[in-house]
Amino acid sequence: MKKCHKKEKKVKSNRFLPFSTPSISSEDIAAVTAVLKSGWITTGSKNAEFEKKFCEYTGCDNAIALSSATAGMHLILKAHGIGKGDKVITPSMTWVSTVNLITMAGATPVFADIDRDTLMINRKTVEKCFSEKVKMIIPVHFAGAPVDMDPLRDFADEHDIVLIEDAAHALGTLYRGKKTGSQGTCIFSFHPIKNITTGEGGMVCSDDDLIMEKIQRLKFHGLGIDSYDRTVQGRLPMAEVIEPGYKYNLPDILAALGISQLNRIEEFNKKRESLAHLYLELLRDIDEIIPLSIPEGYDVRHSWHLFIVRLDVDRAMMTRKKFMEALKENNIGTGLHFKAVHLHKYYKNNLIIPPDSLFNTEWNSKRILSLPLFPDMTPDDVHHVVNTIKKVLTK
Ligand SMILES: *Cc1c(COP(=O)(O)O)cnc(C)c1O
Repeated sequence: MKKCHKKEKKVKSNRFLPFSTPSISSEDIAAVTAVLKSGWITTGSKNAEFEKKFCEYTGCDNAIALSSATAGMHLILKAHGIGKGDKVITPSMTWVSTVNLITMAGATPVFADIDRDTLMINRKTVEKCFSEKVKMIIPVHFAGAPVDMDPLRDFADEHDIVLIEDAAHALGTLYRGKKTGSQGTCIFSFHPIKNITTGEGGMVCSDDDLIMEKIQRLKFHGLGIDSYDRTVQGRLPMAEVIEPGYKYNLPDILAALGISQLNRIEEFNKKRESLAHLYLELLRDIDEIIPLSIPEGYDVRHSWHLFIVRLDVDRAMMTRKKFMEALKENNIGTGLHFKAVHLHKYYKNNLIIPPDSLFNTEWNSKRILSLPLFPDMTPDDVHHVVNTIKKVLTK
């Protein structure tokens, strides 16, 4: 018995544990295979079904599946006419896509600082960088926790500006008992590390009919109908460009994977949650490691997209780079979500940031890393990661 146990342990430490990997079931594979055999592989009935099920799950009025969340954000900015002279408030602690899109639209990104321990913007930090030219605010629900939306919604209403939620991390998240996506306008991502995946893909959810009508049109050349509608309704010869648009539709091969994955979102998130709570418990007595806080002051269901910690570099007497390399040498993968956008080369050279205005953002940008967290991980893996962290820190 003992011998057998030892052997298992040895195999385990030789296996590389990635920081994330998708959970693909035989049902997922069968769903994709069925589409491949069906004779219709691009946007069609599987997209319609995916959108309908997504509405049912999140409680949103209307959903449009797209080739990525970035595509969704692009279309939202376009549909709202964001352009030259406009400013858009968003955190710098985010994925680069939003800031790139704002910049490429000719508008100026304005960065609100974040709470040190949740990595999220709030009404106070938004007020600090607000000005006349601000047309839109894009908060990010970070790592699976929800932003405190009510004060931000009030602020947006008071100033008559648009509020768009980046919910790329937040499928299944609840804020004050309400699912993220059920109100307002949101983007979700189905990139392989996100809580469900379609390989690549995204969804825009909204209760704004006018904006969704525009997005529907802009996602497919500005024709206002996608290839599915054309075939079914035989409207191809009559299809006209209403305004020049893009090519951001999601193939049915991927939508079928999305439907199959969505069936398992609650199971995925429950596994993520129990692994995350185990991490929190085991990391409690490691002073050099500071996990994020769960937001306080409002009711939350966390979807644990990422398990982010900060390395106290002074206590550890080790740089984050060294720490991540040491974990890698021990067959443990880590991620970095994210290096603050304003510290990327282009934005360092092209944006003027008021000194000390992003103190918490920069503090975190130097210290954060993401530990392995994905549904197919086991509690043993979590123990292994934490033991390895202890080993690396005492060296
Ligand atoms: C992943 C991610 C996106 C972009 O999603 P894609 O589907 O890859 O375009 C946007 N915002 C945040 C915060 C993300 O993590």
